[in-house]
Amino acid sequence: MRNRFAKILATLGPASRAPQTLRLLHEVGVDAFRLNFSHGSHEDHAESVKNIRRVQEQCGNPITIVADMQGPKLRCGPFESGSIELKYGETVSIELSEALGKPGLIRMPHPELIEALNEGHILKFDDGKMQVTILEKTDGVLKARVDVPGTLSDRKGINVINAVLPMSAMTDKDRVDMAFALTQDVDYIALSFVQTAQDVIDARKIIGDKAGIIVKIEKPSAVEELDDILAHADAAMVARGDLGVELPLELVPVVQRQIIRKGRALGKPVIVATHMLESMIDSPTPTRAEASDVATAIYLGADAVMLSAETAVGRHPATAVAIMDRIITAAENDPEFWRYFDQIELPHEPTAEDAIGQSVRSTAKTLGCKAVLGYTLTGSTVQRISRERPPCRVVGLTPRVNTANRLALSWGVLPIVMEDPVNFDDMLGSVQTVAKNHAGLAKGDRIMISAGVPFGRPGTTNLLKIETVD
Ligand code: PGA
Ligand code: MN
Repeated sequence: MRNRFAKILATLGPASRAPQTLRLLHEVGVDAFRLNFSHGSHEDHAESVKNIRRVQEQCGNPITIVADMQGPKLRCGPFESGSIELKYGETVSIELSEALGKPGLIRMPHPELIEALNEGHILKFDDGKMQVTILEKTDGVLKARVDVPGTLSDRKGINVINAVLPMSAMTDKDRVDMAFALTQDVDYIALSFVQTAQDVIDARKIIGDKAGIIVKIEKPSAVEELDDILAHADAAMVARGDLGVELPLELVPVVQRQIIRKGRALGKPVIVATHMLESMIDSPTPTRAEASDVATAIYLGADAVMLSAETAVGRHPATAVAIMDRIITAAENDPEFWRYFDQIELPHEPTAEDAIGQSVRSTAKTLGCKAVLGYTLTGSTVQRISRERPPCRVVGLTPRVNTANRLALSWGVLPIVMEDPVNFDDMLGSVQTVAKNHAGLAKGDRIMISAGVPFGRPGTTNLLKIETVD
């Protein structure tokens, strides 16, 4: 059992895909894995899903799997030797070609991009690390000057800074990938470059209730329509990599704070992503600024923090997770962390769930309860309790494996798969077993139980009981 409230989402890749590495990552702290559909084949992802579920069975902990769609992200093609150097001031060609790129030549597999680009347009590569300016276009070949040098490797992202491109929210690749992901046992589909609530509604028509939807906020238009977009989503990601290129850099922290607050008010998990421990791709320790960045996300109340290249292709995937775990735990052990939540008034709906959520928070404080054990079918009650940020463990008891797996991403929630009780006495008995055997509680600990009577019907939560572990 973890001694931590915020969750860790780690991206799988060549550095972490092997079954034994995957298992190690889970053991040192990963609660949720991201399959990045911008990279890897369907076979790779299917294999990863199988391996994650095997670890889940061996360890007995529900794990969230996120299938992250590439979205209309522009990427350069691969290179003959994996990467090229872009040297300051040199002129490079950019063309629509099937050949591999090489020094001085970048292949761009996007006809619409070549079409829309002209002299004066600025392109950034790899989350803004490199920059070129288009000098001329002849016969569909672009000549560009390197303004910011660096190493450009296979399939790195491209952002066009001073042109609005005609891009549809879901590409043909996304449709194929999404259909495939839905045949796999994944818990969330993440939508990249969402711009409007309609994008989410359209995806929902395909996804139905087979998976939750995470909206990745990485476009200025998504920030403008944030309320509407969040209303239609199940969770959100502060996708800082692209956000910081698409939007002025200084607005990233402002928008991050806004998304965390709004997501929490709505009871939808928020993930803070990208560059969190970036230097650990190579180095065995992060910078102090990175440690502080992870802690800041935690202090603001994020549900989860994400590792990208650190675990996908980095040299120290397990160490990155272990260090992230330590940073989160230290912040959560600071009394200031808990005081922050007292200062924010949450909006409450006139529902039994919200009344119970509020009571859980105040009762945990008044009685020093160690845990609330919440029976849930869809996960909704437990999600409403989690958003209150009560100072106690939130144990989600559900007979549905899917519900348990999805809840593993939510703040403070320890999901446990268990049959619904047959009656009240049965409930009191099972709660004692769970408290001692799964939630690490001891005789004399005060706990709360939330449930819906009669049992087994969704939407009936109507009871909050105070108990003592015997
Ligand atoms: P990506 O999303 O890694 O799929 O681009 C995260 C981000 O943009 O920060
Ligand atoms: Mn992105």
